[in-house]
Amino acid sequence: MSVIIVGAGVGGLSIAALLADAGKEVTIIEKNSMPGGRARVYEEKGYTFDMGPSWYLMPDLYENYFRELGLEIEDCYELVRLDPSYRIFFSNSERIDVSSDISENIELFDSLEDKGGEKLRRYLEKASRDYGIAVDNLLMRDYDRLRNLIDGKLIREGLRLPLFGNIDDYISDVFSSDMAKMILEYSIGFIGGSPLNTPSIYYIMNHVDMNLGIWYPMGGIGRVVEKLYQLCLERDVRFKMDENVMKILSERGRATGVKTSKGIHHADIIIVNADYPHAEMKLLDRDDRSYDKGYWESKLFSPSALVIYIGLSKKLNNLEHHNLYLAGDWGLTFDELYDINDPEWPSNVSYYVNVTSKTDPSVAPKSCETVFILIPVPGQYQDTAEAREELYYKIVRHIESTTGEEISGFEVVKRIFGPNDFIEDYNAYKGTSLGLVHTLTQSAMFRPSHRSKRLRNLYYTGQYTHPGIGLPLVLISSKILSKNLLME
Ligand SMILES: Cc1cc2nc3c(=O)[nH]c(=O)nc-3n(C[C@H](O)[C@H](O)[C@H](O)COP(=O)(O)OP(=O)(O)OC[C@H]3O[C@@H](n4cnc5c(N)ncnc54)[C@H](O)[C@@H]3O)c2cc1C
Repeated sequence: MSVIIVGAGVGGLSIAALLADAGKEVTIIEKNSMPGGRARVYEEKGYTFDMGPSWYLMPDLYENYFRELGLEIEDCYELVRLDPSYRIFFSNSERIDVSSDISENIELFDSLEDKGGEKLRRYLEKASRDYGIAVDNLLMRDYDRLRNLIDGKLIREGLRLPLFGNIDDYISDVFSSDMAKMILEYSIGFIGGSPLNTPSIYYIMNHVDMNLGIWYPMGGIGRVVEKLYQLCLERDVRFKMDENVMKILSERGRATGVKTSKGIHHADIIIVNADYPHAEMKLLDRDDRSYDKGYWESKLFSPSALVIYIGLSKKLNNLEHHNLYLAGDWGLTFDELYDINDPEWPSNVSYYVNVTSKTDPSVAPKSCETVFILIPVPGQYQDTAEAREELYYKIVRHIESTTGEEISGFEVVKRIFGPNDFIEDYNAYKGTSLGLVHTLTQSAMFRPSHRSKRLRNLYYTGQYTHPGIGLPLVLISSKILSKNLLME
């Protein structure tokens, strides 16, 4: 059986390795020159940047995926747990470190509000139990099979979880101080949502963050991509890079192949890893689409992002590996990001600064730092060179005044990646950085299907499908799809 995969993101690589391992003849066609998609690596003048993901979360799910291929994580890369997990700078000039040691976090919460520590302990205990239920019963489930949808266990276990209401209300019922709430709500950004549009069940991300911990593969997140790529090569997956898929060909209810910038290729099965709306609206004939334009227009997409890569010729003493700046007006931060009618860059910016060289000397020249700044911004509206520069200087000045570290003038490398690049490089719908956010009606069985509703042998994997956004979930998406395909 031959398989063509459109896109060499983590979704494409991970499904390719599993299918090739089962003896399928797999070809990946990728428009860019290197694998990894949003998780690509950028190198310049001795500085190495992970272009997208930098938080290695849910180590259990990575393990789960690699075990399918007979590997333990130690066989793949060297994983270290970060301590502190991250540093948060608040707009009121307070600065806190969230520790990898739960007892230190309990002390921290005691200092934030009355009985804060005890509340945190109980909250995390419940989050730990609910994480187990959610992973076993909701996350690992293949919703494309009808019997999995009407399974009594799904309903029974699902009802034990806080599925309804938003996470902001859920957290506010337990904690009263703004700082405690912000610490617990920032992690929603990982799945692209806002605390007001994300269902309360995602409070399990606090278990991921504070119990399971924040990890780092030495060499960078790019090591995950490198490992997947190597596993594909070892299993004879063929790569066609710099080749843009322009059309998915079909005949009488079956996909027959793809037309690319370099020719036509046929296969028994086509799997799309490229952004789902792009594939549906740009690569398929109208009659072959599972979802029409109206469907995509009615959906809630994550905002875009301005990502800044800086190679610094000096060390930074006041920053940790992961640093967050959380703006004072939390509500306004999210309102500005989700107001798709407002073409302005946000005024009330919360942002993230990553300095991997704090942990890993291999990613920067000696006595230098590799700095990555991520600022969520609305879609593609005013992504001009001038607007980028203006925001760049605003953020750099802000980091300098917040941390007391000089950055300006020490940049050896400076690259800015913005909404227009998400469109150009990844065919991202309206410049979205993460695709469909995890609202209640866009989670689990409500995410776009792994299986085309029109073409019998066309499938999808990656962050648009269940379980969703983030590398570990994308790996599980491929695992679910491969099991489905290999059973047929
Ligand atoms: C800035 C940023 C920060 C992030 N931070 C984290 C984090 O800290 N931790 C985490 O776990 N996750 C993080 N994520 C999310 C994570 O990176 C994504 O969920 C994941 O990489 C998506 O993988 P994918 O394979 O589904 O899609 P993609 O990576 O987008 O892969 C799709 C591939 O398809 C290719 N393609 C598109 N159209 C075509 C075409 N017509 N022909 C051929 N090829 C095509 C693209 O070039 C791309 O290579 C972050 C993402 C971003 C953007």
